[in-house]
Amino acid sequence: MSNTIEVKFSAKSENESLARVIVASFAAKLDPTLDEIADIKTAVSEAVTNAIIHGYEEDESKFVYLRCTIQKNTIKIVVEDRGNGIEDIQMAMQPLYTSKPELERSGMGFTVMESFMDDVKVSSIKGDGTKIVMTK
Ligand code: ATP
Ligand code: MG
Repeated sequence: MSNTIEVKFSAKSENESLARVIVASFAAKLDPTLDEIADIKTAVSEAVTNAIIHGYEEDESKFVYLRCTIQKNTIKIVVEDRGNGIEDIQMAMQPLYTSKPELERSGMGFTVMESFMDDVKVSSIKGDGTKIVMTK
């Protein structure tokens, strides 16, 4: 049997820590190690921050969608925004690539997600939004 939660929250930076805690408590069912929980929280943070900063350019009237599913021994986490979208996903995922150097972003968000999760899939349509699916 699988187990799923779904949360929709305002694109406010204060909700990033909330999203992390929600996923961590949900993931606790899998009896993860502290390291695994830390990895999951970090990856969620990066994806949610991207949705808020890049997807919505910090427009707090918009919403970020979070869905988590546990099936067998795996957690799948989906973070979605209906914002700007990404024109060139391959370029965006390159280590050190950022479209916002002026905000002192380091361009390492996707690299962090990929190194802390077992699998990361990005789908995006320019002008339509972005969906990140991560599993561990
Ligand atoms: P850092 O995460 O290190 O602070 P960053 O956010 O720029 O910097 P990444 O998280 O790797 O780096 O993202 C790379 C680029 O991909 C971003 O600069 C942005 O152009 C694009 N991007 C990422 N997520 C989204 C999103 N949800 N919507 C639109 N563009 C995005
Ligand atoms: Mg980022």
